[in-house]
Amino acid sequence: MIEDLEKILFTEEEIHRRIKEVAGEISSDYRGRDLVLVAVLKGAVFFMTHLAQALSIPVRIDFLGIESFSPGRALPGVVRISKDLDIAIQGMDVLIIEDIVDMGLTLRYLLNMLQERHPHSTAVCTFVNKATRRLVDIPVKYSCFEIPDRFVVGFGLDYGQLYRNLTCLGILKKEIYQS
Ligand code: 5GP
Repeated sequence: MIEDLEKILFTEEEIHRRIKEVAGEISSDYRGRDLVLVAVLKGAVFFMTHLAQALSIPVRIDFLGIESFSPGRALPGVVRISKDLDIAIQGMDVLIIEDIVDMGLTLRYLLNMLQERHPHSTAVCTFVNKATRRLVDIPVKYSCFEIPDRFVVGFGLDYGQLYRNLTCLGILKKEIYQS
């Protein structure tokens, strides 16, 4: 599987170390508050489990399943909710856990949707951030890694549902997705 990568950007050890640092920030920022981590399926699952276990405060966890509308028919950034939250988030501090923020359209939709449920606060924590690709201004409070504009896989991020189980993060070889 690793041979399909052009380059490893971050090793498993680097990823775990960085997640612990971010978890430390989140634990001190949200101590004594009513925090729920909302992971966006499926990519954010690996990040969510590592992050949640590295926190030193008790938190609730929940999952949001989304499907982007197919290109061509799409209103950009409009998504369909395929699995809604189980927890009622009214009055809670919500931290959306994302695998990657790219153009930011998906996240803008999710933030607007969750806002209608009157949480106490909403914020975003992403595993990787492609800030140079942003089309809309999304407040990303926590980001583990800033990455260049290349297609990356691993640690939850997929290509055609594959490679999520890579323990590192890397740039996929062009011949894999051009074949
Ligand atoms: P956006 O922020 O552009 O609305 O949407 C982000 C989504 O685009 C992510 O959830 C992910 O599915 C996909 N995406 C964007 N860049 C990459 C990448 O480099 N690798 C992978 N695996 N998915 C990406």
